[in-house]
Amino acid sequence: MSLNIWHPFTQHGLREPIPEIARAEGAALYKADGTKIIDAISSWWVQTHGHCHPRIVKAIQDQSAKLDQMIFAGWTHAPARELAQGLADFLPKSLDHIFFSDSGSTAVEVALKMALGYWHNRGDARHKILVMEHSYHGDTIGAMSVGERGVFNQAYAPLLFDVGTIAFPGAGAEQATLDQLKAFCKDSDNLPGALIVEPLILGAGGMKIYSAAILAEMAAICRAHDVLFIADEVMTGWGRTGTVFACEQAGVKPDILCMAKGLTGGVIPLAVTAASDAIYQAHFSDDRAQMFFHSSSFTANPIACAAANANLAIWRDEPVRERIDGIIASHRAFSERLQRKSNISGLRQCGTILALEIDDGAGNYMSDLGPMLLGFFRNRNILLRPLGNTIYIMPPYCISAEELECIYTVIEEAIDHFGKP
Ligand SMILES: *Cc1c(COP(=O)(O)O)cnc(C)c1O
Repeated sequence: MSLNIWHPFTQHGLREPIPEIARAEGAALYKADGTKIIDAISSWWVQTHGHCHPRIVKAIQDQSAKLDQMIFAGWTHAPARELAQGLADFLPKSLDHIFFSDSGSTAVEVALKMALGYWHNRGDARHKILVMEHSYHGDTIGAMSVGERGVFNQAYAPLLFDVGTIAFPGAGAEQATLDQLKAFCKDSDNLPGALIVEPLILGAGGMKIYSAAILAEMAAICRAHDVLFIADEVMTGWGRTGTVFACEQAGVKPDILCMAKGLTGGVIPLAVTAASDAIYQAHFSDDRAQMFFHSSSFTANPIACAAANANLAIWRDEPVRERIDGIIASHRAFSERLQRKSNISGLRQCGTILALEIDDGAGNYMSDLGPMLLGFFRNRNILLRPLGNTIYIMPPYCISAEELECIYTVIEEAIDHFGKP
């Protein structure tokens, strides 16, 4: 007798197969019988350097034998201190305070609470949060509130808080977005406290890309109107877009930045919300009522911090940037190849992420194409999980040219198989 496992984002009623993985190494997962599956999406956007990187494995082993877990309220430990030191080399100097949590969703909740606390403690309570259409920031209630509303959260919609939504600044529609943002910022009856965005590329919303110039302009508008700018770099962080953080490409220094997925190399849960001194100072007081009221049991877990320190060491010591540049060049060459296909649209690339839509004549997230594609790739031993009819690749940086070529070939097959003739 065994309990039934309820999987995330899985409709068990469809009885789709749930393959079991026994081990992993580099860009590959292996079944017990030895079948190799290429991990084309970094195990849901988390793995950066590849599975079971020896340095991260060792850091976890060593730390777990030394100091496994301890309270972080009023106490501290070396792995957290070391991480605070290390992160200083990767973040803009203006983000000089870090707060730990356990996932991207909680990093976002922390960011929102910091922003609201900032305004509250300054005696200028502002409760309106601005968001971008099609955004995804996590699945907890607060994170869903600032994300796109739809079938994913309609059961909870009445409980989600109100936000101000600016349009996605797609090509040709940029000015409308900027004008909307300005209008919200000037609404003296209901001044916004913060804008939260996924910089350069909206992940779960369909790998939608917008320019660094627009990102910079949005940040500048916020700055000019004293609206806090929150960058959700949970997916974009740690190299995905070609730079360590996407904001770098726009020269944007956010007031608050969220990171999670790749922070530990994508091995073990850990999140950081980095904040400017102004945010911190708004909570700094001899009045207990003004402290930042947030914690979770595993805040700054030492094992997770040790894994993150190993991730930073890999960035420092290994040719991570060269690997990323290699993937970027390889994707470009593949895009050239795809120009010949007539039944795709929206071919786009942001750093190591390549995305396209297959034209099957129907096409939306709930269309049948998504599950059919999933099965198609699964049967060909590629871990690739399309978002509706959007196929995307987001590989770990250690992936080989041969493995990439395998993925590309199967994608071409899928286009020929499912695209309308
Ligand atoms: C994945 C993701 C989150 C949520 O992170 P979890 O660790 O899954 O809670 C938040 N924001 C963005 C942009 C994400 O891609």
